[in-house]
Formats: sequence, structure tokens, C-alpha cells
Amino acid sequence: MKIGAVYIRVSTEDQARDGYSLDAQLKAIKKYAQSNNIIIESKYIFCDEGISGRKAEKRPAFMEMIKQAKSKPKKFDLILVHKFDRFSRNREDSVVYKALLKKEYNIPVISISEPLDPDDKMSVIMEAFLEAMAEYYSLNLSGEVKKGQLEKHSKGQLQTRPSFGYNVSNNRLIINNSEAKIVKLIFEQYTIEHLSMMQICKNLNNLKIKTKSGNSFENRTIYYILNNPTYIGKLRYTPNKRKGTYSFDDLNTIIVNGDHEPIINIELWNMTQNELAKNNKWKKPKQHIDVDPKTWIKGIVRCKDCGCTMVMNGKNKIRCNGYNKGKCNNNVMINVQDIYKLIIETIRETITHGIINNIIEKKEKCATNQYEILIDKLYQLKEKEKRIKEAYQDGIDTKEEYKENKRMILKEIEKINKEIKNLDNSKQEKERKKEIIENGKKVYEILLNDKISIKEKNDVVHHLINKIEFDKNNNLLELYYN
Ligand SMILES: [Zn+2]
Repeated sequence: MKIGAVYIRVSTEDQARDGYSLDAQLKAIKKYAQSNNIIIESKYIFCDEGISGRKAEKRPAFMEMIKQAKSKPKKFDLILVHKFDRFSRNREDSVVYKALLKKEYNIPVISISEPLDPDDKMSVIMEAFLEAMAEYYSLNLSGEVKKGQLEKHSKGQLQTRPSFGYNVSNNRLIINNSEAKIVKLIFEQYTIEHLSMMQICKNLNNLKIKTKSGNSFENRTIYYILNNPTYIGKLRYTPNKRKGTYSFDDLNTIIVNGDHEPIINIELWNMTQNELAKNNKWKKPKQHIDVDPKTWIKGIVRCKDCGCTMVMNGKNKIRCNGYNKGKCNNNVMINVQDIYKLIIETIRETITHGIINNIIEKKEKCATNQYEILIDKLYQLKEKEKRIKEAYQDGIDTKEEYKENKRMILKEIEKINKEIKNLDNSKQEKERKKEIIENGKKVYEILLNDKISIKEKNDVVHHLINKIEFDKNNNLLELYYN
């Protein structure tokens, strides 16, 4: 035997209609309860009469029922309604409350005229959806903005910025013809012509086509487009999406039908999804395992064209990672051994002849007290400048006196500024150069020593060198000391 609560709602219009009156609903519910071994206690019959307010908050009996459902120990095991639309006229409210009751308090809401068959596929999906909603709302009951987004979304309206291929007008997606053509092209090239994502984005970049945000295409842009159900007329929303993750990998993602025109037909979409699954190496994020470096220049050489790091390609060569991602044209591979030689030679020039071409600029405080003394003097002069101005304004000093005082002060300020600059430039620079040369000597010896491990070499090199830029056009390596 179970104890059931009853919820009945009748609006003023309902009263007149057959079968919807308070009595008719209650009668039908009682009948259902009897044949299903459910006891109904009169104190758990909740009734909102003459109320047509959409929101649950405006229905006092409903809110009272929710309150009692939450109490411990449990007062009733389930809630019976005549029809789900009695439970709430507002679909979102209904889903939320049903889901909360079920998940948090294990109280199902049963509609006596719309029984959910547990084997029915639709009800399985519905259950899963309810669960997801409960999860979402129990996390976000206070997040009204997000709730709004979710409500909008479940009505097929848009709340994120438009996907490539669409524009937004009056909160609706409108096809952007030139972009839509490219979307089609991407799907066809990938699925029918079997081009790689890299090849596709190279083609697009050569045509100087840009993404919505004005960037060049990258492999992952293509991947994202190929996985985006917007193109078959759906909308996708991920509550609490973690930054940097893809919606299609997130189990919380909700996909609903949108009301925009699709760009890709369902056949091509399905073929594409199969193709993606076949080439699913993209699906698995590479695991970053911190292994011993294979070279002692790990991550330190950068492509001057795009600024990306040059990474190992094969055993002995490095290549621009921007090229690997399809956004850089620098496809030159350089032999690591050649770079080693150049670096060692550069360090040798530095330590024997004091040649330092590039130092990464550092705005560091000068170590000596002198710097602080000068700054203090400068501050006092600026204060003095204020005081003489006041003296002039108050009529204590004449205009001539003020002018003369001001001239003296400005001269003094200029002098101090020069001293500070000299401190920065000469002393600090000298100190740094001296340090680089001394460290350079140690690093030079370490690099020439075959008994020292690559990892140790890597550590000392990274300490000494900030970056090395590879300029493909001039075939030049430029070394920047720390
Ligand atoms: Zn590059």
C-alpha cells in the first residue's frame, strides 16, 4: 500500500468544461487509486481553484504540496494528477518540479490519464531527460540567467552566438549564404572527397576565408563544424559547460529541434558522423605524460611566422606546430642537430667575445638602494611643485617667483629621471650581461659534455635562454637570453 497525494488544478474556464471540474478530476483520481492500491488521505489533497497563473509560485496549494513533499519522514509516496498539464501549465515548471520530486525526494508524479509505460522508448528518454534537468536545476536553482537560457533553448530559441554559416536576426538563426556554402564544402570534402581536416583548412586559409571570430581555420575548427548539429536544424546547449571542452563530448549536452533552416541534409550528416567515428583519433585527447625530453631545446624554438612552438617531427626534426594544426604555412623541418650546433656556436660567441644580440627585456627593480632613493627624491620634487603652485594661487608668491621655482624644480626632476634611466640601462644591463656570460660558460661546458643527460641539458638551457626564433624566410635562428 502506498500513500498518495493528489493535486488538482481548475481554472475558471475549466470549471465549465466537462471532465475538468474539481469533482470530475477527483473522482477519476480516486478510482485510479483504488484499483492501484493507493491510499489517499484527505489532508493530502491539494487544490488550486480558479487560478490560471502560469508560474508555480502563484499557486499556493501547489507550493504547499511541494513543501510537504520535501518533509522528512516522507508524508506520501507519490503524487497523482488527472493530466500532466494539471500539474503545471508551464512546461518548464512541470519538468523541473517533476524531476526534483523524483530525484530529490523519490516521489513520482503519476498522471492517471497518461500512464508512462516503462518499456516505452519515449518514456525512457523522458526519464533520462528529467534526470538531467534535475541535476541541472539542483545545481543552479539560484542561477536565473542560466535557467532563462535553458528555457529559451528548450523552446528552440538561440542563446549562444551563431555558428559559422548563420547570422542572428530577431533571436533566430538566418542562413548566411556565403558561409553556408563553405560549411557544405567542408562536409563534402571531408566525407565524400575524403580530404583530411588539415587539407581542408589549408584550402580555406589559402582562400583567405576567416572564421566568425576573424581567425584562420584550424583542424579543430573543422572538427567542430563537422560535429555541430546546428547544421541539421538542431540547437545544442550544455549547462555548466567547462571551458575548453567540446559540447559534443559532454554528457550533459541537451539537443533540441531548432526553428532554423538546416544547411546539411541528414544523409550527409550521418555519413559524416560515420566518417568521424572511423577517423576517431581526434576524439581521444592526447594524454600529456611528462616524459624525459628527447631534445634539450624542448618548447624553446618558435616559428617567427606564427609564434607557435616548433615541435618534434620524427626522430631528429622539428616543425612549426601551427603548421601541424593547419594554420601556418611554415612547413620547413629543421634538423635538431643543426640547431644544437648553432646554439652552441652562439653561446661560444657570447662567452668569448661578449656578443649578446638579444636579451628579453625585464622590468626589474634595481637591486641597489640608489633606485629607491632617486624615486623618493622624485616624489618630494613633485610634492614641492604642488606647494609652489598653491603658494602662487594663494598670493604668497608672485608670478615671477612661481615661474622661477617651477623652472628649478623641473630641471631637478629631469636630472633625476636621467639618473634613474642610467641606473636601469647601464648598471642593470651590465649586471645582466655579466650574469649571462657567466652562466653561458657553465651551460657551454654542460652542452659539450656527452655524459650529461638531455634532461639536465634541457634544464640549464631553459634557464639561460628565453626563446629561439626561427625565421623561415631568412633561414635564421635568433637566440634570446633570459
Ligand atoms: Zn608557424
